[in-house]
Amino acid sequence: MSALYEELAASSLEQLGMHTAKDALDQVAQRAAAENWSYSHFLGYLLSAETSARQTKAVALNLQFARFPYTKRVEHFDFAAQPSLDRRLVDELFTGRFLSEGRNVVLLGPPGVGKTHLAIALGVMTAEKGYRVSFTTAADLARKLTTAMAENRLGRILNAFGQPTLLIIDEVGYLSLEPAEASLLFQVIARRYDKDQSIVLTSNKPFGEWAQIFAGDVVMASAALDRMLHRCTVLNIRGDSYRLKERRKAGLLAAPTDPNSNE
Ligand code: ADP
Ligand code: MG
Repeated sequence: MSALYEELAASSLEQLGMHTAKDALDQVAQRAAAENWSYSHFLGYLLSAETSARQTKAVALNLQFARFPYTKRVEHFDFAAQPSLDRRLVDELFTGRFLSEGRNVVLLGPPGVGKTHLAIALGVMTAEKGYRVSFTTAADLARKLTTAMAENRLGRILNAFGQPTLLIIDEVGYLSLEPAEASLLFQVIARRYDKDQSIVLTSNKPFGEWAQIFAGDVVMASAALDRMLHRCTVLNIRGDSYRLKERRKAGLLAAPTDPNSNE
């Protein structure tokens, strides 16, 4: 009788798609017998092996879906090198609360100060919490949307950009957009705003210059800013490029005040 139920346990776990539990069943059952586990101890142990394997797999899928250009974590961020950053504000963001509040995050500052690093780190945190995140640059986003429009599938792709819990739009303002591209970027921002879904955006342009980003359209720029900033945490990073600073420290570059410097 017992052998019958052992077989039934294995095949039922298989049918339920609980492959990790099925594979671990024999070993865990032997250990449970040897160590006199209670029945619920045994069941809890077996099921937690299944759920933790599923979580690991879900996180791996989320990270794959995100298409990060590379992986960065907040633990790798040198806060001492960036005293203009409010550490408490950054720590609060990494609790992930902004995601459930549909709050946006805007990272502003000159090149090399860690905007993309922090944006990716927020994305990795989001993926690890079990949520979908999608990374794109503004130029890529514009290209994808204009292609989709030309191929009559704009609705579908706008929906796709509305799906993930977090959308990261990197390098807004590096290239100025064509009027049609600007209007498409606006639509992505407006849709996510209507659904209370967060955007993390990085830009080298202060808000006062956003009309330039939106092809000189002041009305569209202010409508986009209204939505972006309604619920938003803004991190304004000032200071020097981290890379240049590191190279200076290593003696590979002259100090910025050096009259012989050609920077
Ligand atoms: P930005 O997007 O602001 O131009 P990046 O995030 O691309 O800058 O940063 C440039 C490089 O310097 C990246 O490799 C990044 O990881 C690194 N970096 C920038 N700031 C820091 C920092 N404070 N601590 C550690 N690495 C940093
Ligand atoms: Mg960047």
